[in-house]
Amino acid sequence: MLLLAGFIYACSSESRPEGAADPMNRIAESYVRLVLAIGRHDPDYVDAYYGPPEWRQAAESDSLPLDSIGARVRALQADLVTALPQSADTLAVLRHEYLGKQLRAMDARLAFLAGKKFPFGEESSLLYDAVAPTLGEAHFKEVLARLERELPGTGPVPTRFEAYRTRFAIPRERLDTVFRAAVAECRARTVRHLQLPAEESFTVEYVTDKPWSGYNWYKGGYRSVIQVNTDLPIFIDRAVDLACHEGYPGHHVYNALLEQHLVRERGWLEFSVYPLFSPQSLIAEGSANYGIAMAFPGDERVAYERDRLFPLAGLDRSDAEKYYRVMALQKELAYAGNEAARGYLNGEIDAAAAADWLTRYALMEPARARQRIRFFDTYRSYVINYNLGEDLVREYVERHGGRDPARRWEVFAGLLSSPRLPSGLRER
Ligand SMILES: [Zn+2]
Repeated sequence: MLLLAGFIYACSSESRPEGAADPMNRIAESYVRLVLAIGRHDPDYVDAYYGPPEWRQAAESDSLPLDSIGARVRALQADLVTALPQSADTLAVLRHEYLGKQLRAMDARLAFLAGKKFPFGEESSLLYDAVAPTLGEAHFKEVLARLERELPGTGPVPTRFEAYRTRFAIPRERLDTVFRAAVAECRARTVRHLQLPAEESFTVEYVTDKPWSGYNWYKGGYRSVIQVNTDLPIFIDRAVDLACHEGYPGHHVYNALLEQHLVRERGWLEFSVYPLFSPQSLIAEGSANYGIAMAFPGDERVAYERDRLFPLAGLDRSDAEKYYRVMALQKELAYAGNEAARGYLNGEIDAAAAADWLTRYALMEPARARQRIRFFDTYRSYVINYNLGEDLVREYVERHGGRDPARRWEVFAGLLSSPRLPSGLRER
């Protein structure tokens, strides 16, 4: 499974600028081993690992109980406090802060696995270093009123939206063609601005019966497997969404750049593991979502999809502009999903009421709303990483990159190649 060919872990001190003597490298190794140990108890925890195989084997054979892992995490937190960065290098400072927040998130996930339930906002703060704003029904009703004007007719707006959207489903037999075209376009637009490792590539698989709509499994060696869930109809806009989000310049690129710049160039092995329930996920999901606007600034997305993807999918291109106006309004409802998750996970509403809220305010038809409840059950406050993450990454890139597209790509690439934390996105 692991693609390790050509990757030398036992690298010499010349190829590891900080050297093995750096106490941070010892802490990093312990951190990786503890992430792998938690993965023995929590099958969703380790999203990717391509570090030394013997560390994984040791985690499997040791099979540490949760309370021993917890004691080691807290001891490592104490070690980290005394191991201050040895240089003023920005990345070295970020590395230290990053490990601190990642360890804090590990401790919180361990508490959850031991049975503790945190309130939604506290959980997201501990795990993802961020808290989503609370929005009331009035906000969503105002967006729905604007949507109603785009979708004249009778019946509730969610029903009208669903009926309208059905016309834009990609026929199953054309899905792979459309998706591959979108991937090629997203890649071409990304490599114009970002230098990717020459060996990078990924494969695509179509799967069913998952709580998510798409997933990138990073294997190391600059390779990913991208899975697309075909349980529910896939609409035309999802082709570019998925291709950017999972591929270019989203998760595949983020993982490849971390491997290239932090793991291989600096020997920072903590980045060879990716614990899903950690601050890294807000950066991952936020940059993957914002990556769509990076690859297709302004009106470029509508023009490309109308002229290239609509014909490939056999859809009427004269409908494209209106479709994307409607979809932009739907996107303004993204925070409705957070509210459903908050109420449901805090025990204030049951699954049926949460699904009803999702249908009314996030415009999810009942089957999609049920899929989303499954997502809440599995991933909990992770939901904030998509929309809040996107907003935080957008603000960061626009604040530091201004209006110049080339400068924005530089800032975006810097973010994808560094251990910056969600709270650090807000700093000036
Ligand atoms: Zn994602």
